[in-house]
Amino acid sequence: MDDRTKQQQHDAKIRYKNRMKLIHAYNRGDRQAQRQRYALTHKTQVRASILIKNAVHEGRLKKPRKCYLCEVVVPEGYEMFIVGHHPDYRSLLKVIWVCVMCHNEIHLCLKNWR
Ligand SMILES: [Zn+2]
Ligand SMILES: [Zn+2]
Repeated sequence: MDDRTKQQQHDAKIRYKNRMKLIHAYNRGDRQAQRQRYALTHKTQVRASILIKNAVHEGRLKKPRKCYLCEVVVPEGYEMFIVGHHPDYRSLLKVIWVCVMCHNEIHLCLKNWR
């Protein structure tokens, strides 16, 4: 790995951490209320995410550290920032792995045309 790629990876990590800080600042406060609302209105999604969590835990699914969309690679120990998105809730074990930022964007876009 040459110095430039190293520098780029470093920059990506910093950018990523800053983005995360923003999200956390935004979510602080009513995060729990948000989560409860979500659980009530998104039963299929919640069930699907539990299924994925279990599958990863049992080794049936492998969770990468790279976002499928923006290709950010999260540092070791930051795997929780990569989440499985379901393009189709009829096949619950088929997911694309994206970072939470891209995941938010996916769902914002979905909301706009659904
Ligand atoms: Zn991403
Ligand atoms: Zn999703």
